[in-house]
Amino acid sequence: MAYKITSQCISCNLCLSVCPTGAVKVIDGNHWIDPELCTNCVGSFYTVPQCKAGCPTCNGCVKQKGDYWEDWFANYNHSLAKLTNKKDYWERWFEYYSQKFSEQLQKRQGEVLGI
Ligand code: SF4
Ligand code: SF4
Repeated sequence: MAYKITSQCISCNLCLSVCPTGAVKVIDGNHWIDPELCTNCVGSFYTVPQCKAGCPTCNGCVKQKGDYWEDWFANYNHSLAKLTNKKDYWERWFEYYSQKFSEQLQKRQGEVLGI
């Protein structure tokens, strides 16, 4: 998932000069990262994304979000693992919740349809 430039960008042009792949473009005065060219700096000389590392706003260059729930589980699992030592707490909670919700839904549909 490529990096992107957010509305916090102050057009300092730093990312433009440090990007090893030339992925940062300026279009109509707005900075933009071409996802076809951005490699997340993986495989380059650098070990961290140069645009993010140098951005003076700290949030001008950010990694694009993946799947919403994937990120959600990753964040909360990480927090909970610190507290409980259970690494998959939220997945198990979500599976249990989904199962119960599905059962209730089927029961309700059965009542409505008179099954
Ligand atoms: S380094 Fe950050 S503030 Fe500067 S042009 Fe890039 S995104 Fe904008
Ligand atoms: S992550 Fe690396 S390759 Fe991608 S735009 Fe930023 S500096 Fe360029």
